[in-house]
Amino acid sequence: MTTMIRHHLSDQLLMGYSAGTLPEAFNLVVATHISMCDECRARLASFDAVGGALIEAPEMAGTMGSGALAATLARIKSADESTPVMPERKAAKPVLPQPLQGYVGGDVDKVAWRNVGGGVRQAVLPTSSHASARLLFIPAGAAVPDHGHRGTELTLVLQGAFSDEEDRFGPGDIEIADEDLHHQPVAEAGADCICLAATDAPLKFRGLLPRLAQPFLQI
Ligand code: ZN
Ligand code: ZN
Repeated sequence: MTTMIRHHLSDQLLMGYSAGTLPEAFNLVVATHISMCDECRARLASFDAVGGALIEAPEMAGTMGSGALAATLARIKSADESTPVMPERKAAKPVLPQPLQGYVGGDVDKVAWRNVGGGVRQAVLPTSSHASARLLFIPAGAAVPDHGHRGTELTLVLQGAFSDEEDRFGPGDIEIADEDLHHQPVAEAGADCICLAATDAPLKFRGLLPRLAQPFLQI
């Protein structure tokens, strides 16, 4: 991916993904970011290798020094470099990366959007009930109602960009929001913004209208 990704997955998310302890909706966001981001893919390989080493030799768990970790990481790096580079594909680049296409049954033209007000559309994806995942379509210049969070919200930009009180998020960027953040994401002018968002608890809306609509939108 040629676009510069500035906001990445946390170690916590990569470890959880590697260990298989995240809810399905979060796994989907992590897998999708990894498919767009070489840096996080390499970091995940390190966590996978460390996890694998601990499973193979549990007695090492307490004694694995930084030397062993460095050696493991160096092995991974050299293995990574010897991987042949895939030839550039000629076909138009899909909006939805591969992990998402399985959930949607194709690219963005297959998404069953539902209007949620203000021109914003969403499509809830079928995941286990521990957390929910949805695609969001925010028209250029439009805003999502301002809200706080009861748990963790992961928002991954697939197309366009949005800005909120924290920063600007472009293609491939992930925003990790928690209880401390109250924000109002606004799509950048010039391009519609498509995001993948996952939450493990209902959002807290300040406005009455979004609050009333909340049960219907499953958000
Ligand atoms: Zn990344
Ligand atoms: Zn949020």
